[in-house]
Amino acid sequence: MPDCIFCKIIDKKIPSDIVLENNGIFAFRDINPQAPVHVLIIPKKHIPSLMDLHDTDGKLLGQVYAAAREIAKKEKVDETGFRIVVNNGADAGQAVAHLHFHLLGKRKLLWPPG
Ligand code: 5GP
Ligand code: ZN
Repeated sequence: MPDCIFCKIIDKKIPSDIVLENNGIFAFRDINPQAPVHVLIIPKKHIPSLMDLHDTDGKLLGQVYAAAREIAKKEKVDETGFRIVVNNGADAGQAVAHLHFHLLGKRKLLWPPG
């Protein structure tokens, strides 16, 4: 197992506020929320970044977005709106090398992002 904080969260070696868990996906509240709803959706498989995805990972991405829809409904942002963000690499400020999708909502989100 790679020395990865999110893999440890998936394995429950590090506690987290779990929002959703199924076969392929784990979702939990960000420890430093940037919006009233800030959930991290991650594949259970350790994939360091978007650039490490393969053409065959389409099913996994489908699972990510299915989880996003389910969480949006659960968190009651499905009608008010929300944003999905993937920070990839240094310029985007990716801090954890395990692919994760930020789901942000319950406030007006600015555009363009900083
Ligand atoms: P990135 O900047 O890589 O896109 O986002 C990493 C996110 O992970 C940050 O928003 C940060 O607050 C969150 N994070 C880092 N460590 C932990 C942790 O141990 N628990 C939780 N729940 N979130 C974390
Ligand atoms: Zn990992």
